[in-house]
Amino acid sequence: MREVMVQYLQHRLLRWFDENQRVFPWREDGATKYQQIVSEILLQRTKAETVAKYFDTFFSKYSDWNALANASLEELEEVMKPLGLYRHRAKRLYKLGEDIRRRGGNIPGNSNELRDSGFIGLYVTNAFELFILRNRKPLLDVNMSRLLKRYFKPGDFIDVRHDKEIQELANDIVEVRRCKELNWAILDYAALVCKSRNPLCDECVLNKHCKYYELSKGNTTFIP
Ligand code: SF4
Repeated sequence: MREVMVQYLQHRLLRWFDENQRVFPWREDGATKYQQIVSEILLQRTKAETVAKYFDTFFSKYSDWNALANASLEELEEVMKPLGLYRHRAKRLYKLGEDIRRRGGNIPGNSNELRDSGFIGLYVTNAFELFILRNRKPLLDVNMSRLLKRYFKPGDFIDVRHDKEIQELANDIVEVRRCKELNWAILDYAALVCKSRNPLCDECVLNKHCKYYELSKGNTTFIP
């Protein structure tokens, strides 16, 4: 049954994405790998629309890996202020720039180099694999985790960094040719339909197999 549910989700969400995808600068054909990776860091715990408005401010100042590698922590904090969480974000970007500088300005060229790079966090590592090495990896954040959890196995949320089950599910889900698009589809769907509050289950293209929907139909007091 799990295989059927996986294939159903992949198929339905890619079809939904083709008609409903959100347009953002980091998704455009002209976006560089650098912009795609850094945008993923900016997107964490922030609405995509907010990052889209801020995109030009950041990338006109730090246009490539070299510029990021030469930025000081104080400078990055200053530039990050309009986006919020500026200390946390500046620290992550500074660490990334530091890693790039330590590597002589080169980014990892394969999975082994990436493993040895010291890059922080599963999310950034997966973004590198997906956008630069073109490997099938999930951009697993709280939004993807919420959608997968509801669809496959509703229950208590665990921090995605420690939830092995959801990591395994996310890895299975992105085993498709259009892996990058499916990642974006899940993120868009979680933002627009499978929202954290009041998900639009009755009009959802996944409700036929969704466990959360099944439970909520049988029990009107069900809470995610
Ligand atoms: S049916 Fe509801 S909970 Fe299930 S995937 Fe769709 S929106 Fe999310």
